[in-house]
Order: sequence, then structure tokens, then C-alpha cells
Amino acid sequence: MYSISVPDEKHKYHVGELAKMFLSEDAFCIYVGQPDAELVIGAGGDYNDSKRRAYAFFRKITGRDLDWGILTGVRPGKLYNELKAKGEDPEKVLKEQYFVSDEKIRLLRRVSECQQTVKRSHDPKAIGLYIGIPFCPTRCQYCSFTSNTITKKGATAYLQALFTEMQDVRKLMDRNGQTAESIYIGGGTPTSLDEEDLRSFLMKVRDLFVTENTVEFTVEGGRPETITEDKLAIIKEAGADRISVNPQSMKQHTLDLIGRRHTPQQIREAFALADEAGISIVNADLITGLPEEMPEDFRDSLTAVLALGPENITVHTLAVKKASRMIEEDPGVARRQAANVRQMLEDADRMLTAAGYEPYYLYRQKHMAGNFENVGWCRPGTASLYNIRIMEEDQTIVAMGAGAISKVYFPAENRLERVPNVSNYEIYIERIEEMIARKEAGIS
Ligand code: SF4
Repeated sequence: MYSISVPDEKHKYHVGELAKMFLSEDAFCIYVGQPDAELVIGAGGDYNDSKRRAYAFFRKITGRDLDWGILTGVRPGKLYNELKAKGEDPEKVLKEQYFVSDEKIRLLRRVSECQQTVKRSHDPKAIGLYIGIPFCPTRCQYCSFTSNTITKKGATAYLQALFTEMQDVRKLMDRNGQTAESIYIGGGTPTSLDEEDLRSFLMKVRDLFVTENTVEFTVEGGRPETITEDKLAIIKEAGADRISVNPQSMKQHTLDLIGRRHTPQQIREAFALADEAGISIVNADLITGLPEEMPEDFRDSLTAVLALGPENITVHTLAVKKASRMIEEDPGVARRQAANVRQMLEDADRMLTAAGYEPYYLYRQKHMAGNFENVGWCRPGTASLYNIRIMEEDQTIVAMGAGAISKVYFPAENRLERVPNVSNYEIYIERIEEMIARKEAGIS
């Protein structure tokens, strides 16, 4: 057990996050003010100074470097853009002060260049909207989202409460002079609603929020078995121009292992339906590092997905979080798959670049296999503005539904304030008036 001493609790948190990227949690202990620890970090420096000291120590004992160096936050792309805006050389700073690898710096440069081609409003009254539908057909093994197995009764009661919140947000937006630049319907799996509920929900979204200032309207389909011709017609009629159909893997054995009750054939059928319905932009999510998958499995999945021709492909890295079933059933999977994930991400970069896709947004999460990243790739001109802005944190996003967290942006201070809803959908229904009161007080 390695012992490290830091000056206070806040440094303990930051150094602890870095330590977890090198070692398992039972292999180190961090103390506050312990002079006989193996590494003693004194007061006087900031968190990054402490992390740099700790990085040198972990590097020495493990013989390893980290691709993302001392960066433990979720938005390295935002840091890159901020350094650039301040007139600094982001690549020099990331390399010399944060120890980020050349390969990840190159990725950040490509993301930043692609983002610059995407038009966005500079009007602070142009906001993003997120609406969550916390239901799915079944729960995936790795899921840590607010998701419940759908029932008609649950969905109907939920939508009733959600409509109250949506109507109130409309009034709030009128009060503040705001309009929706982008609308994102996420979850959960919004298309797990039946046709009747999906229609009443999406028509309400359209009537309340879509204006001539709305440039993007996305409905996450997610699970391919929930996508039907009728539902796609409803999505089109509501004015949405983007959907997601998320294979995660094209290998049946993997889909069975992770609790997704669909087949690769259903994925192909969902793509064909989206094509027939004339949906302009389809995104497909894949996950690297899934249990038992080897790099050739991922390459096969990516080849199969490329053949379906989606405009966007998002390559995730498996993250096994506390709220997932996977953490109980196979807690070591992320660590075990780290080397495979590195290979899979390299393959993804090579194959997607060769197929004409560009990386356009990137984020990291805790508990990711190998501490790598998630990258959204797009064909030129098809990047999702909502995804970029949520990563850049440069816009107010009003979020509705169970588990949704609104973020109010204060441009003068470049700061966000969070206004959360409760995540349990039954409690959300019970306390809907309180959720609305929180928004009325917190959103300006
Ligand atoms: S589809 Fe997404 S939200 Fe639903 S259970 Fe699977 S991971 Fe969770």
C-alpha cells in the first residue's frame, strides 16, 4: 500500500482521482498532513502542482504514463479551447504542464477545428432544451442512467407530470425572452413510449418549443427494437431531424451478455426504416471494452455500422459505474479491457478517418476502461450543435423530466449554476410542483 500525504481535503480529492487512474483503490492511501508518508506534498501549490508531484511518483512506481496526463476532468476539449481563447498555445500547455500525450493533443486539435465549422448563435437568449424519458424496454448491464422498465401506467403518469413542467418552462422562457436553439429528447429510450404516447409527447414539444430559431431537434431512439415505421413518421411530423439508433456492438453474444434484447438484424432494420422515413441525420453509438470483446470484434462492429452509413458515429469507452449491475457482476472488466480499448480506439480513429468522418466532440467519465474518452464522429456538416454546446458549457440548457439537471450560464462570469430535478420518476411525479418552483427560482 503506497502512502501519500497532501495539505488538505481538496488536494486529497484531486490527487485521489489521479491515483485511481494508476492504481486500484486498495493499493494506495492518501492522508492529510502525514509527514512520514512515502510521498509528502506540502502546502503552497495549487491542485495541478500537487497532481504533477503525484504523477511523477506514480509514474516511477508503475513505469506507466497516462494518455491524458494529469487531466482528470471530463472536458479536455473545453480546456483546449479556453487556452486558445486566452492567446496561449494549448498544445504546449497540455504537453508540458498537463503531460497529455501527442496523440490525444492531436485528437483535441481535430475536435476543436471541426467545432469551429459549426455555426452557433451568440445570443444569450438562444438556449438548449433537454427533455428526458426515463424508460427503456430492459436495463442494460452497464447502465447507470435514470432508466426504468417501461409500463403503460408508469409512462402515462410520467407524461402528465412532464407536460406540466414543459408548459411551465414555456412560460418561463416567455418571461425571460428565450427561444430554443436546439432540442434534445434523451433518456432512457424515448422511443420506448408507444405510438399514442410518443405522438402526444412530441407534438407537445413541437407546439411549445419549436420556432424559426430552432436549428436542431434530436430524438434519441437508442434501442433498435423500439423503432417502428409509425414512430419514425411521428418523429418526422414533429419536426425532428435527427435520431440515434445505438447498436453498441454488432455481435449477438455481446448483446446478450450486456442485457440488450435485440439482434444485429434489428439494428439493420431500424436503419432501413430511418432511411425510408427520410430522417436526415442518424447517429450510431458503439462501446469499446465490452465484456469478452477483442479488438477484432470491435473492428467487425464498426465495419458493419459503417456499411449502414450513419452520419454520426459515437465511440464510447466502457465505464462501469456504481449504479450499474455490471459493477456487482464483473467489477474488474474495465481494468481488464484497458489494453483492448487502447487498440479499439486506435482502430476507430483510423477507420473513421479513412471513411471521411471527423471527431467533433469529446468527453471523459469516471471509471472508464483505461481512462480513455468518448468521441463523437461526424460526416462533414452533420455535427450536433447540442452535443458541442453541452461540452463547451457556453449556453443555458433547461432540462426537464426525472433526473434532468438544468444548467444556467452566466456569460459575464463564464460560470454555470445547476438546477436539478429528482431522479426517481415516481418521486418526480409526486413533487412536480417543487421541480417547477426550483426552475422558476433558478432559471433566468
Ligand atoms: S438503453 Fe441506455 S438508458 Fe436504457 S438501459 Fe440501456 S444504457 Fe440505460
